Amino acid sequence: MFRAVLVAASAGMVLAACASAPEVETVETAVPEVAPEAAVDVSPISTANMSETARVLASDEFMGRAPGTEGETKTVAYLIERFKALGLEPGGRDGAWTDPVRLKHSQVTDIRTLNVTLGDEVIPMEQARDIEISSANPRETIKVEDAPVVFVGFGASAPERDWDDYGDMDLHGKVALFLVNDPDFGVAEDDPVAGVFGGRRMTYYGRWAYKYEEAARRGAVAALVIHEAKAAGYGWNVASSSPGENYAVAGAAKPAVDLQGWLQEDMAKQWLAEAGYDLDALRVAARKRDFQAFTLGDLRFNADLGLSVEAAESQNVIGKITGTKRPDETIMLSGHWDAYGIGAPDELGRTVMPGANDDALGLAGIMEVARNLEAEPAPERTVVFAAWTGEESGLLGSEAYAQNPIYPLEKTVANFTLDILQTAGPARDVIQVGEGQSDLEERMAAAAAKQGRTVSPEGLPENGLFYRADHFSLARRGVPVILIMGIAGGSDLVDGGREAGDAWVADYIGNKYHNQNDAWSADWDLRGAAQDVELFLDMTRDLANSDDWPQLKPTSEFKGLRDASAAERE
Ligand SMILES: [Zn+2]
Repeated sequence: MFRAVLVAASAGMVLAACASAPEVETVETAVPEVAPEAAVDVSPISTANMSETARVLASDEFMGRAPGTEGETKTVAYLIERFKALGLEPGGRDGAWTDPVRLKHSQVTDIRTLNVTLGDEVIPMEQARDIEISSANPRETIKVEDAPVVFVGFGASAPERDWDDYGDMDLHGKVALFLVNDPDFGVAEDDPVAGVFGGRRMTYYGRWAYKYEEAARRGAVAALVIHEAKAAGYGWNVASSSPGENYAVAGAAKPAVDLQGWLQEDMAKQWLAEAGYDLDALRVAARKRDFQAFTLGDLRFNADLGLSVEAAESQNVIGKITGTKRPDETIMLSGHWDAYGIGAPDELGRTVMPGANDDALGLAGIMEVARNLEAEPAPERTVVFAAWTGEESGLLGSEAYAQNPIYPLEKTVANFTLDILQTAGPARDVIQVGEGQSDLEERMAAAAAKQGRTVSPEGLPENGLFYRADHFSLARRGVPVILIMGIAGGSDLVDGGREAGDAWVADYIGNKYHNQNDAWSADWDLRGAAQDVELFLDMTRDLANSDDWPQLKPTSEFKGLRDASAAERE
């Protein structure tokens, strides 16, 4: 779920906070070129360097790295200084280290009307209790009057699965009402739909982001997803945690509906009952291949909302090593620099949410890949290192980049993203997020085998993690990607096995994730994290010195998109 990191910051970040790259400040960067313990490290990745980078970025001086704050200025300056020290070239536009990310932030401030009607019957709704509604296409006033409501089932239009919930239904001027997750979530093994959408593993069609986009493509004025906790993967408290608030990339190339959000389950049942339908029966119908979207009788949706809308700007930081033979073909490594900034004091009086693991450690990892590659003959293809902003507010930095890429996505060979690395020591496996996306999966298995390791599936594939980190901004546009995320599942740790790996994940998610406890520690054992970074180093080096193009698999939702640009890669 999005969280409002940017909000506290918005005063500082309104309108062109930074016309040019900030001057490099003096920040503590005493990272030795090769750490002393590297001599005994079997890995080319220095755990001491990684620890030091994360320690600096997670220190109080960086104020939790909230976009738009002084924490951003310091973070961006530090990243530029480090990228320079590593020998990278500026990778932004026109030789800049930074690439601006322009955003619009909106908040529903005034609810004059919010209801559905059926004839004389009026069902009023309360924001955050019955519905969570915001706008990615914000204006000061958004009015929807007497809009018909169309039940679109799971709302999937998936030609590669021979599945289409829409038929010839025209959504212009209408409200699209969706079921959450995808059609084979939670069905019995012998159900005809079982496995059509990845079984227990969620596909993109299950994500709310897809549903909102599909509704927008079809001209709907609003898209609402019926919230069911199990199928969503989180409770109503999470779905309604920042009611009415929305961040969107300014000048977005992709369409957006006027209103989007969640409909609380009981309220949805009330709508449906009013129109003469039953939620459970509709879910059964929507799991059938022949299901077609239909209008819910004379049910009409009404909203008259006042919104505050403001512009904001933040920066991605980008460095590169230019390829010697095919510089226009790029391999990209990335992580996000933003974290949760400063919040209310915790029980120890701490206010800074330092994001040491999420994702200072990921950035430390990509810097170690850069340091290693800089020590070798220059690669044939260009290698790009990106530190994104605004991940925690909805993948904003990577999304802005992908909408207006510096290095064409058709010729982006692969993206490797690090977002949270485990700190519990060496592991016998690496956890793969998502499955059946590209043959980078086989490349990762081969690289892991060289380390004497195996690849394990993620722990909770139904949560759709593959669709929830920065790599996805590129993946959804057809770029082959791999995400390594330490919380995707418990690793099989050399010391303690899977049980210890699961315990680390449970502790991190339960106690540290997105709060004051995500702090740097001298007790971290980064040998497992270094193994994961080494995998990316290995795969990057291989791809950067070959003319191979990793292929998307037929089971990828994005294969058609990649195939459409195949001529660019010949
Ligand atoms: Zn993260």
